[in-house]
Amino acid sequence: MKIHEYQGKQLFRQAGVPVLDGVMAKTADDAVAAYDKLGNKIAVVKSQIHAGGRGKGTTKENPDQRGVVVCKNADEVRAAAEGLIGKTLVTIQTGEEGKEVHQVYVEAGCDIARELYLGIVVDRAAMKPVLMVSTEGGVEIETVAEETPELIFKEHFDPAVGLEGFQVRKLCKKLGITGAAAKAAAKFMPAICRFFVDFDCSMCEINPLVITGDDQVIALDAKIEFDSNALYRHPDLLPLRDETEDEPSEARASRSGLSFVKLEGNIGCLVNGAGLAMSTMDIIKYHGGQPANFLDVGGGANAEQVTEAFQILLGDPNCKGVLVNIFGGIARCTTIAAAIIEAGKTVGFEVPLVVRLEGTEVEEGRKMLAECDIDIINATDITDAAKKIVAATK
Ligand code: ADP
Ligand code: MG
Repeated sequence: MKIHEYQGKQLFRQAGVPVLDGVMAKTADDAVAAYDKLGNKIAVVKSQIHAGGRGKGTTKENPDQRGVVVCKNADEVRAAAEGLIGKTLVTIQTGEEGKEVHQVYVEAGCDIARELYLGIVVDRAAMKPVLMVSTEGGVEIETVAEETPELIFKEHFDPAVGLEGFQVRKLCKKLGITGAAAKAAAKFMPAICRFFVDFDCSMCEINPLVITGDDQVIALDAKIEFDSNALYRHPDLLPLRDETEDEPSEARASRSGLSFVKLEGNIGCLVNGAGLAMSTMDIIKYHGGQPANFLDVGGGANAEQVTEAFQILLGDPNCKGVLVNIFGGIARCTTIAAAIIEAGKTVGFEVPLVVRLEGTEVEEGRKMLAECDIDIINATDITDAAKKIVAATK
């Protein structure tokens, strides 16, 4: 689960990770009131969407309107808020369609001496979280990783112990942080690592991490992702979810307990088991097709869930064919067959449908499908199924 920058900074503040003062605003009037409340001459109006690159991004409505605006007075704050709220911001991370801005964060401005990068992720190979820092802040870190990987410094840490003093000193040396700023970093770095562990984050990125003219170390940006599988341990985080940011079909699938990720292709996939879903996508690609989604209906899917899954797949205008690949273990082939027939009645199959069923109650399932009046292309195995759906959607 992702959250907005303003929400992340609120959590940072409580966890002792230094951030600047700021207020969220949903209207231009509120933004001006926030500016007055902050009482700082320089303030920054920042669009709040679940995507980065806002500083360089512009709105669809006005190619001069950037997603992050430095303002010197109330009129500039009003103009920036009016230019952003209700508008669609396109950044390198939103894709062409952009994202609608529903609120801005009005934050005190600060005197930036240096812009660094800091990120924490779980390093699966090392089986530990890893703190990454770089002198190249404010820039796309992917570019730094590709072109100048020697400028990214990493320290793994034990989640039970946290980041240790010698590790902070090592990183400060590499980043050229000395004196009062190094003292501030010695508080900042362990605090953000503790935050990552305490909140079960899967990613925590601060770009830029700034050193101010008076040697403070401050998180100027906050991009946080929580591990959804651990959310049950953090009930107070749930209200931070902004459903308007979720892909509508993914939100709908999640409400039905389905694992669904929308993709760019045109072949809808209905599969049970994450491993089988991955290999189905691979084999579709191998035979020259493009999957429209990843969908794992799960081991114990019931008829309502599978019917809902079909409705989501068929509701995607890009979907030009559906491949059902089920290995009935706990889920029975008869349940899937019944859901196919139900989906045929409620939404109707206007696109080709290839079905490959194996496993529990397969004979009965096949019989049900043979007796219904839906046009089905039967497949004998996964390769046969992939070839048939690719041919049918070409
Ligand atoms: P994004 O990563 O989406 O572009 P950031 O929060 O990193 O958004 O902001 C972009 C840039 O705007 C930063 O690199 C920084 O130079 C500037 N900036 C952001 N917040 C402030 C602030 N409070 N004071 C001064 N400059 C800021
Ligand atoms: Mg940033």
